[in-house]
Amino acid sequence: MNVTVFGVGYVGLVQAAVLADVGHNVCCVDVDEAKIEGLKKGVIPIFEPGLSDLVLNNHERGRLAFTTDAKEGVDHAELQFIAVGTPPDEDGSADLKYVLAVAGRIAELMEDTKIVIDKSTVPVGTADKVRAHMLGILEERKKELDLYVVSNPEFLKEGSALDDCMRPERIIVGTDSDAVEAKMRELYEPFSRNHDKIMIMDVRSAEFTKYAANCLLATKISFMNEMSNLAERMGVDIEQVRRGIGSDSRIGYKFIYPGCGYGGSCFPKDVQALERSASEIGYEAKILRAVESVNYAQKEKLFEHIQSFYNCDIAGKTFAVWGLSFKPNTDDMREASSRVLLESLWKAGARVQAYDPEAMEEAQRIYGTRDDLTLMGTKEAALHGADGLVIVTEWKSFRVPDFEQLLKELKDRVVFDGRNLYDPERVEALGLAYYGIGRGRSI
Ligand code: NAD
Repeated sequence: MNVTVFGVGYVGLVQAAVLADVGHNVCCVDVDEAKIEGLKKGVIPIFEPGLSDLVLNNHERGRLAFTTDAKEGVDHAELQFIAVGTPPDEDGSADLKYVLAVAGRIAELMEDTKIVIDKSTVPVGTADKVRAHMLGILEERKKELDLYVVSNPEFLKEGSALDDCMRPERIIVGTDSDAVEAKMRELYEPFSRNHDKIMIMDVRSAEFTKYAANCLLATKISFMNEMSNLAERMGVDIEQVRRGIGSDSRIGYKFIYPGCGYGGSCFPKDVQALERSASEIGYEAKILRAVESVNYAQKEKLFEHIQSFYNCDIAGKTFAVWGLSFKPNTDDMREASSRVLLESLWKAGARVQAYDPEAMEEAQRIYGTRDDLTLMGTKEAALHGADGLVIVTEWKSFRVPDFEQLLKELKDRVVFDGRNLYDPERVEALGLAYYGIGRGRSI
């Protein structure tokens, strides 16, 4: 099938590459000329395991094209994906300006039937808004064309996005048209061979499903972080509790890791946006509000531990920081806990020597050159001359450090572990001070 994808970000590019890989002809449109020019030359703008090969391969085979020309994209296919950003507006609600801009562009250029598929995460009622916006433009153009707007939210996780799209757990399609349902089934048939993964529902329920999923996942994290704060004050080790409760099949082990807060481009904004949608209809979403405020406070946790260890006197200290991306296997630093830490350390007069396996370029882009930040080539180099070590992201390569080297390099022999990677007793037995999250030691 011919498919057009507007927006070649984390979602659009992965989805486009995966659709091309199963044999569809995909045309990607983006307004970012540098990105499109780069992609044409094989430069992949984001780090996502396996993505580079998949894009290059399908581009070479002619199944994946890139353009900034919206007309080319609109003419290419009946199926038009919208996969642009929906960042938070000033009041926390989802800003639909990019989604409506793409919809508007399609309406301005279309000459035949279009099925507009909304992949971006958007509030309930957005499909109606998109349709009304497009119909208004078609009316001005005096064109009577068939137009369908489908909700097809994306559930991929950065870091395992390819696998998530190749082997989705479910494909949510919100439509009330049998003809559109048939087209969507044909499009996704290659991903649904093992068993039927496609769930057809009404458009509003599909839109809501994405928010409900992200908000529940964020709730699990904030719940565990709240438990870890209690554990810290009650002489309880949250890691033992995590294993204890995870063994209950009703709870399970997934998504109950305590840590220094969730980040990324989705959870923070989606929790906020749903809370905003609730208040717009006069409902106070108390749980969502609490999830957000617990997370906000949790992002300060590492800095609080550091301040407490140093009696609030860290001016002139140097910290090795391991991990800048908001989670492992991505270079994405949007809303990352590392940013809260770095900015607090700088404000207090400390210096940072940071290392991340993939997010160094992104850190450079965000922070530029400054005296109190040195981006180091390896995790070992980041330790050199540092007073203490702070771990912010749970990259696999941080799990088994050379503790002897930590002992030798860190002047104050202290480790602040925001992801509970190490066993406190083992680390302390080696002669290092250790502060994790909720490990039963008040600091
Ligand atoms: P992104 O910021 O990485 O990419 C958005 C892309 O859209 C950019 O390349 C931008 O240049 C392009 N764009 C903006 N306006 C455009 C226009 N008028 N025409 C064409 N292209 C345009 O965003 P993302 O992380 O891929 O997220 C996209 C949507 O998917 C968001 O709603 C997000 O909430 C949702 N989502 C994201 C993830 C994730 O893990 N990143 C997962 C599921 C859902």
